[in-house]
Amino acid sequence: MRILFLGAAQTVTGSMFLLETDSGKILVDCGMYQGRRQETRKRNRSLPMPVHDADAVILTHAHIDHSGNIPSLVKSGYKGSIYCTPATRDLCQSMLRDSGRIQEHDAEYLNNKYRHDPDWQNIQPIYTEKDAVKALYQFVAYPYWRSFYPIEKVRVTFFDAGHVLGSAFALVEAEGKRILFSGDIGRVNMPILRDPEVPAKADYVVMESTYGNREHGPIEDTRNALAQVVNEAVAKKGKIIIPSFALERTQEVVYGLNELIRQKKIPQIPIFVDSPLAVNVTHVFKTHPECYDYETLKFMEEHGDPFGFEMLTYTQSVQESIALNDEKGPMIIISASGMCEAGRILHHLRNNIESPDNTIVIVGFMAQHTLGRRLVEGREEIKIFGIKRRRRAKVVVLDGFSAHAGQQGLINFAKMAGPETQKVFLVHGEIDSQKELAQELKKRQMNVEIPSMGDIAQL
Ligand SMILES: [Zn+2]
Repeated sequence: MRILFLGAAQTVTGSMFLLETDSGKILVDCGMYQGRRQETRKRNRSLPMPVHDADAVILTHAHIDHSGNIPSLVKSGYKGSIYCTPATRDLCQSMLRDSGRIQEHDAEYLNNKYRHDPDWQNIQPIYTEKDAVKALYQFVAYPYWRSFYPIEKVRVTFFDAGHVLGSAFALVEAEGKRILFSGDIGRVNMPILRDPEVPAKADYVVMESTYGNREHGPIEDTRNALAQVVNEAVAKKGKIIIPSFALERTQEVVYGLNELIRQKKIPQIPIFVDSPLAVNVTHVFKTHPECYDYETLKFMEEHGDPFGFEMLTYTQSVQESIALNDEKGPMIIISASGMCEAGRILHHLRNNIESPDNTIVIVGFMAQHTLGRRLVEGREEIKIFGIKRRRRAKVVVLDGFSAHAGQQGLINFAKMAGPETQKVFLVHGEIDSQKELAQELKKRQMNVEIPSMGDIAQL
């Protein structure tokens, strides 16, 4: 038996691992790569060859860097099932269709931009919304803790990873060995979702390491910091722009703002969620209370809908979105995409980045070479839609909303999967973070490896 590391090797995007067993091959996650434009296009356009031999696909959660290339896989002829939890399946209905639309827009934009270039050959979208819909027919949902056999003699069980709605660790049992794929590991004491489960004992662990060299502050501190940012912006009558992932982060920020208003820590100012995807995803949240923690269920009993309140407006149409440009502050606009690489957030950044009255609040992880990362780095000149803009708006980074475990959470995860663990493979992290986590794990007598892209590990 062996594992091929086909993505998320020494980087945080493009999760893709192929487990080859005597009875068949299982692909764990089929994520989209995000990074430098050119490289992104190239890597997402042609999936690694071994992927096409997969007999079954296991999907840990709906984030695009784990699920985003499933439509490409299906388009290229994959006929098998894609196994995930019910909430992940429902989220993917919105997430993958949205991703298809983004691919269509990207291709259209580029073809239009270079139409006068004699060397330009029109490109096709990596996949379309239609391709995404087609892929959805192959999704098969299994709830947490109900084992199933995606191929003969290989048993899989999902456990609650507490990272985003429906997220799972996948325990694969084959040839007398237990291999645990962590997907992304959530944090304890976060709103809405339950804490990550204690992982099952495993002989091999393939685990994420996004925050392998960092800890997050408590969520309460983050909420208070957010209150301070809001109050400062209110005093300047500025706009607060929050680039946010449509899945999980948006709902957490909305939930947090709802709490801050109820506790009278911030005044009642208009809040807009300007992302059709976030609206759809929030709808899926409402249909999966089985994934909520006790506090959220109690909140709903006492106060009703945690994702809807008086000052909050969800905007769907383009006209509503454009109309926000003319609105005067103070106000909050939460919009996608999370890493500021596409979608409506780009328009809001373009319209608001040059005024010192405005604030951009970063609430998520920004991968290298993304516009979001350039904001985090505090650059004064930022290119948006190909045009350089002087950044005068204040940029505030609030790390505490992260849906990923910090260093200690990751160490605990690896420890609890042991002590019979023969090897821990660190994936889904940038190399500095991975090296530091590896050192911490080695101090605890664990056998650790940081695979490179294309590496093969014999189990
Ligand atoms: Zn994730």
